[in-house]
Amino acid sequence: ATPTSIMVGTGRGAEMGVLFRKGEALQLLKEARVVALDKTGTLTEGKPALTDLELVDGFDRAQVLSLVAAVEERSEHPIARAIVEAAQAEGAGSLPVEGFNSVTGYGVEATVAGTRVQIGADRYMRKLGLVIDVFDQTAERLGDEGKTPLYTAIDGKLAAIIAVADPIKETTPEAISALHALGLKVAMITGDNARTADAIARRLGIDEVVSEVLPDGKVEAVKRLKALGRLAYVGDGINDAPALAEADVGLAIGTGTDVAIEAADVVLMSGSLRGIPNAIALSQATIGNIR
Ligand code: ADP
Ligand code: MG
Repeated sequence: ATPTSIMVGTGRGAEMGVLFRKGEALQLLKEARVVALDKTGTLTEGKPALTDLELVDGFDRAQVLSLVAAVEERSEHPIARAIVEAAQAEGAGSLPVEGFNSVTGYGVEATVAGTRVQIGADRYMRKLGLVIDVFDQTAERLGDEGKTPLYTAIDGKLAAIIAVADPIKETTPEAISALHALGLKVAMITGDNARTADAIARRLGIDEVVSEVLPDGKVEAVKRLKALGRLAYVGDGINDAPALAEADVGLAIGTGTDVAIEAADVVLMSGSLRGIPNAIALSQATIGNIR
C-alpha cells in the first residue's frame, strides 16, 4: 500500500471512530481470519448486577450480604460493584474490614468485624478445601442462564452461592454477524466459568470458547488460536494487554483501561464492537484496491 492510501484509510477510520495507532495495522487487518474477544467489558458491558443469592441452612441473607459487600468494597473487579450495590439497596451498613487480599483469578478475602469472609469462583473454594457440591445443580442452572456463580465462605464454612449477570452490549450480536459475513471465525477468551461462557457463546453464535483462563493465560490462548490463522484480539482490561501485544493486530476498547489502549494497534473510540468489522472492511477496501 502507498503512504497516501494509508493516510486516506486512517482518516476514514477516524471518521467512523476507529483510531489506527499504527499504519501497519490497517494493512494487517485485512489478513485476519480469526477475531478473539475478551468477554467482560468487551462483549458485555462490564456492569454486572446481582441476580441470585441462595443460602446454606442457618445463614441469614442480610448478614451474608453485608459481610460480602464489606469485602467487595475493597475490590476493583466489576463483580464487586454488583455486590456492593445490591447490599446497599437492601440497606446494609458499613463494617470494619481488615486484611483484604485479592487472589487474582480466584476471588477475594478479608476479615470483617472479626469474621473471616471469602468470596470467589468454584476453584477458589476448592483451593480453600471446601466442598461445594450442595450447590452443583444451582450452579449449573445459573451457568446455563449465562450468569456467573460465586461462592461465599464465612469463618471457613460454605455460606451461600451468589450469581451476577453482565448484559451483552447491544451492538455485539450485529458485530459478530458482520464478522461472520466477512468470513472470519469468532472466538471468546474469558476467566469466567465454562458453563457461563458456553451459554453466552451459544447465544452469540461464537465459534470458539476458551474459558476459566487465569489472568496470565490469555496470551497462551491467543498463541493457540493463532493456529487457525491471522488473529485480531479485542480487549479492554489491564490483563488484556499481553494478549493485545501477542495478537497480529490488537484492538482496544476506547472506554477501557489506559494499559489496554497503550498495548493496542487500533482503538475503537466508542464501546461499540461495530468498529471491528468496519475496520476490517476498511482495510480490505483501502489496501485491497491499491495493490
Ligand atoms: P474476568 O475478567 O474474565 O472476570 P478475572 O480473572 O478477573 O477474569 O476473574 C476470574 C474469576 O475470579 C471471576 O469470574 C470470579 O469468579 C472470580 N473473582 C475475581 N475477582 C472477584 C471478586 N472481587 N469477587 C468475587 N469473585 C471474583
Ligand atoms: Mg474485560
